[in-house]
Amino acid sequence: MNYDVVIIGAGPAGLTAGIYARSKGMTTLIIDSGRVGGQLVSLYPEKGIHNYPGFETIQARKLSDKLYAQAESMGCEIKENEKVEEINNGDQELIVVSKLAEYHTKSVIIAIGMGSFKPKKMGCPGEEEFYGKGVTYILPAKEALVGKKVAMFGGGNSAIDMAMISTQVAETTLVHRRAEFRADESTVRELEKSDIRTIMNANLKSINGTDKVESVTLTIGEEDMTIPTDLVVINIGISADLDDLKKWGIELTKDGLVKVNFDMSTNRPGIFACGDVVSYEGKYKQITTACGEATTATMMAYKFAKKPYWA
Ligand SMILES: Cc1cc2nc3c(=O)[nH]c(=O)nc-3n(C[C@H](O)[C@H](O)[C@H](O)COP(=O)(O)OP(=O)(O)OC[C@H]3O[C@@H](n4cnc5c(N)ncnc54)[C@H](O)[C@@H]3O)c2cc1C
Repeated sequence: MNYDVVIIGAGPAGLTAGIYARSKGMTTLIIDSGRVGGQLVSLYPEKGIHNYPGFETIQARKLSDKLYAQAESMGCEIKENEKVEEINNGDQELIVVSKLAEYHTKSVIIAIGMGSFKPKKMGCPGEEEFYGKGVTYILPAKEALVGKKVAMFGGGNSAIDMAMISTQVAETTLVHRRAEFRADESTVRELEKSDIRTIMNANLKSINGTDKVESVTLTIGEEDMTIPTDLVVINIGISADLDDLKKWGIELTKDGLVKVNFDMSTNRPGIFACGDVVSYEGKYKQITTACGEATTATMMAYKFAKKPYWA
């Protein structure tokens, strides 16, 4: 099958591109190396999103479900767990190559966000050993936290947001290695009003237990302190792997992201980009900006692929 557009990445940018492409009647394939939903499902599914218009607050997982359902109902073909490796030039078309297949298409939209991402690790004894046995990098569903002692590590908005969710049902301690949080003032104010115990200037020395996590040992100055813990949630950032981009012949910025023109076109004809993977002056990585850029990228892909008389 020849597609009008192949969209690489099924985060908010890729799904929005799919919705717009189908509204223009384009045959559309969306391919994701992981699960549909991007960062919303892979990094912060339980977090409430307060800045997506139309919803005062919506849980990240639910927003992703809604985008997915809308893209599917509009007729996007969606493939998960299929990593795109190459984008080659054919005679008249582009050829998107994954580990499993080759797809011929008139245009491509790159929406791979941060690439294949992995949460950063603390690197302390016990972290590997107890992964899945009380060590996690994503906050589990609230029901799984009821009555637990949760130790959350991190000092940014995300760690505080997750601690705020956890404290609703679990005894929660937030541990940060610095004296101040690296989060929005309003978020820190909410934290101060909450029941969350905060421990500052503390490093995680070890995660302890036999079959599962039983405690964590912190180092604060010269002193060690051990606190009983059932669940260790590590939220200290993400390391992203955007190495794929280097193989795609796309011009990149100094920070290794896709350089786009004002219309989201790249240096390669027929290839457009949107979302967290693109960089330009004033770029702000948010869901709404990803969706806006996806709209532009798709309209340009439509003009390129369909060449309407008015374009
Ligand atoms: C902890 C945290 C909290 C956040 N909170 C908010 C918030 O409250 N409000 C807000 O607006 N924004 C928030 N953001 C930012 C927001 O999540 C991003 O701006 C948004 O997800 C960008 O969407 P995207 O589609 O560009 O990329 P992503 O969501 O990263 O999706 C990209 C997709 O591409 C796939 N992919 C990568 N490489 C390949 C490949 N080679 N082949 C195929 N598929 C590939 C990935 O698997 C992924 O699914 C938050 C971010 C984080 C980390």
